[in-house]
Order: sequence, then C-alpha cells, then structure tokens
Amino acid sequence: MNNLIRNTVISAMLALTSGGAMADAKNPKIGFSIDDLRLERWTRDRDFFVAASEKLGAKVFVQSADANEQRQIAQIENLIARGVDVLVIVPFNATVLNNTVKEAKKAGIKVLSYDRLILNADIDAYISFDNEKVGEMQAEGVTRVQPKGNYYLLGGAPTDNNAKMLREGQMKVLQPLIDKGDIKIVGKQWVKEWSASEALAIVENALTANNNKIDAIVASNDGTAGGAIQALAAQKMSGKVPVSGQDADLAAVKRVMAGTQAMTVYKPLKTIASEAAKLAIQLARNEKPAYNSEYDNGAKKVSTLLLKPTALTKANVSLLVEDGFYTKAQLAN
Ligand code: BGC
Repeated sequence: MNNLIRNTVISAMLALTSGGAMADAKNPKIGFSIDDLRLERWTRDRDFFVAASEKLGAKVFVQSADANEQRQIAQIENLIARGVDVLVIVPFNATVLNNTVKEAKKAGIKVLSYDRLILNADIDAYISFDNEKVGEMQAEGVTRVQPKGNYYLLGGAPTDNNAKMLREGQMKVLQPLIDKGDIKIVGKQWVKEWSASEALAIVENALTANNNKIDAIVASNDGTAGGAIQALAAQKMSGKVPVSGQDADLAAVKRVMAGTQAMTVYKPLKTIASEAAKLAIQLARNEKPAYNSEYDNGAKKVSTLLLKPTALTKANVSLLVEDGFYTKAQLAN
C-alpha cells in the first residue's frame, strides 16, 4: 500500500471508530473545551451554550483547562477519544493546537473556534465578537474622558489572538492623537493569562516609574481593569484616571456606575453561545452555516460569524437590565 492510500484508509478507520463519520445527525455530541472556567464570563458562556445545544438535541461535554496549555491538549484528545462530532474550542494558547486539530480532523470531527481564533490550524469556522471594534470602543471610551496626556496600554494575554486584535483597534483611535502630539504612550505591557493580580502589579510599577503621571489607562478587559483600578486607588487616583474594560462583569459594571471605571463593553454572551450552538450542530450535520466574515489564521481563510459589541458607560448601563444580562437587584447593591 502506498503512503497516500494507507493514510486514507487509516483516516477512514479512525473516523468510523471515533463516531465522526457516523455522526448521529439528530443528536450530535459536542465537546466544549474552555480555556478557563475560573473567569466569570466563561461560566456564563458555558451555561448558555449547554442550554442552547441541548434544546437543539445535542449533548455537550465540557472541559476547562484552567489556563494550562498541556491540560487543554489532553482534554481535547480525550474528547476526540469519546467520539464527539464537533469540537468547540476557546483556546488558551492560539498557536499550539495545530496537531490536536489535525487529529480531530482525521477522525472526521469538525472544529469551531469560539471567541478566540486558533492560529495555523485547519479549523472549520470561527465565531466571535468584532474584537477590533471592541478595541476601538475601549480607546474611544478613554479618550472621550481624557483626550490628552500620558497613556498606559494594558494588553491582554500574549497567548490570545484577541489581545492583538484589541490592540489594533485601540491603535486605530490612538495613533492619530499620538501623531498630533496630544497623547503620549508612557508604557505598555501584555498581561499574562489576563490575570487581575498581574495587572495590579504592572500598574503599580508603571505608576512608580512615572511618578504617578499617568492620565489614562486603556485596559483590555474588566478583570485587568479591576487590577489597574486597585493600583490607582492605592495612590488615591481612582476615578480621576479613566480606565477601559470589556465583558460587563458585575464588579466592573458597579465600578462604571460608581465612576471608577470609564467604560466597559457589553458582549451578549447568550447570543454568541446560542449562535455557536447552532453553528456547531450545522457543522455536525454537514449543513451550510451563514457567515458574515473571514479571517486568515495563517493556515487558511476561516469562515467567520462576527457579532456586534456595545460600548457601555454610566449613561447606558440600564441596557444590561433591559437585555436580561443582570437583574435590577444585582445592579442595585
Ligand atoms: C475574551 C474576553 C475575556 C478575556 C479573558 C478574551 O479572549 O474575548 O472577553 O475577558 O479573553 O478571559
């Protein structure tokens, strides 16, 4: 048998034993591999995703890698061995899943990248909010309050492709102001694993290095914004220095209402989770999902469904109650 034929036969056998090629179209099995369920937003993604998938007749197996690259790979391999029809993955490290995805594809399993793009791998689709737009909103939210002065850029995790897309969006807004001389970037740092305590330490150091002369902080999510605001508070500067965020985490929304965080970005998690459930099931059934965008992930042009984020300030936080994201009581105390 030549190599090509042998590989084809092996792939076919793998597909059969894993259940990939025998997908039960009516009740597909979905493996949901999440980077880190210790963060508030992802538990909500999980709950909405499981509910939406079950409603559509699918069964979901959930795994959390807790920000550990090796654990995520092992968990995905385990899901492949269980014979899921589709893998939905929130990658911890965008660049290390190439071989694991290859294994899945060999077994006839479809792969959907959820919220964060998996790079350099043969994935089937990607669903996310428009991350570049989120970055623009973050920079706009801060420049609106503080159009001039010393800016600090607190980026997301260096392992997360979103961190880079957010930065691109932020720079779209900031670069013209830098060129005009209105804004000076006095420092920037990526925050490992999006860790709030790491963000706190980074901003403490930045304040010291700049003799507290920092006028604005563009933070890339609410967790890291929380760390930054804690560092500002220790210098009695919170509320005076605008800080951005995203996710509409409950603590962050309360800070926006109290005036210590300038803005957050609302991304309706129920929408991404239920659209992803629909998409995953369509992929399992070999149907053609509707996409509205495309991203080059280094290996291919990935069919993408991009959803719309909304900037939130004190003026429109009530939208969260209208949308059912929080109850009035949750925001009141
Ligand atoms: C997500 C953010 C989240 C961050 C940390 C990003 O990829 O888009 O919503 O705050 O990861 O988990």
